[in-house]
Amino acid sequence: MKVMVSACLLGDNVKYNGKNNKNDALLAFLKDKDVIKVCPECLGDLKVPRSPSEIQGNRVINKEGRDVTSNYLKGAEKTLKIAQNENIKVAILKKNSPSCGSQKIYDGTFSNNLIEGEGITAKLLKKNGIVVLDEDNYLEYKW
Ligand code: SF4
Repeated sequence: MKVMVSACLLGDNVKYNGKNNKNDALLAFLKDKDVIKVCPECLGDLKVPRSPSEIQGNRVINKEGRDVTSNYLKGAEKTLKIAQNENIKVAILKKNSPSCGSQKIYDGTFSNNLIEGEGITAKLLKKNGIVVLDEDNYLEYKW
């Protein structure tokens, strides 16, 4: 089975701070699966490391106050293209990210407060019929 997965969950150092979110349990789970790895922010031409960003209304703003919405939209569109080309039905994306988060995101004030919401890429994938899970709930899905 093919599954799209956030690159940082697989151990790639693509996070804003140049680190990763490697998840060993997820890696073990994915052993017999065909993994399509993506980092939407990299696909949107954002560098590593980069300033952290949060969603504010319908914009994405980085900690320096720069509007990076176009990068996030580009990354989301490219990720969707890859998913469609690869016939992806399910993705496991990093929770809470302004790109990959599928249930909660930070509230836009850079004060570590989570609110209900979706990252730009997760939202676009869902809108196009792809099931988006995260590293906490993927086992709840009927694989
Ligand atoms: Fe990880 Fe997604 Fe952020 Fe890339 S955009 S670092 S894959 S959470």
